[in-house]
Amino acid sequence: MEKRLTVALVAHDAMKHDLAEWVAWNWEKLLPHRLISTGTTGRIVAETLMDRRGNGAPNTRFDITMLKSGPLGGDQQLGAMIANDEIDMLIFFWDPMSAQPHDVDVKALLRLATLYNVPTAINRSSADFMISSSLMANADYKPVIKDYASYIERTVK
Ligand code: PGA
Repeated sequence: MEKRLTVALVAHDAMKHDLAEWVAWNWEKLLPHRLISTGTTGRIVAETLMDRRGNGAPNTRFDITMLKSGPLGGDQQLGAMIANDEIDMLIFFWDPMSAQPHDVDVKALLRLATLYNVPTAINRSSADFMISSSLMANADYKPVIKDYASYIERTVK
């Protein structure tokens, strides 16, 4: 049986076109999964998936949850979901050419994805490799989370 994952999708404005193309290309692989997006990205992902339906693609029911727009707290909402072990995979096309008003939130999101060992794709080619991985369907695969017990129990004076 197909393993159902929770896949987060985020793209900065200059990268939204890339993400829409990537979603249009990979829509069949995405459909079985639960999708979570920041607000504006989510709208574009949903439009792209509906477009596939318009083009006669069968069984195009999809499950997408839209958070707040990234700069309005969406990145932080996603970070909280990562900390709560609610995200299996992050596809985050961040813009390497423009400063973002919510740069600190972007950094925090990437930091938490790294801390919690969430598979993260930051461009189209890494997203292609990740979505094509046989581990997508492997129910036994669970990313290892470092044991932070000694950090949590440290003595602080
Ligand atoms: P947006 O946010 O999808 O609402 O544009 C993207 C982001 O987190 O920068």
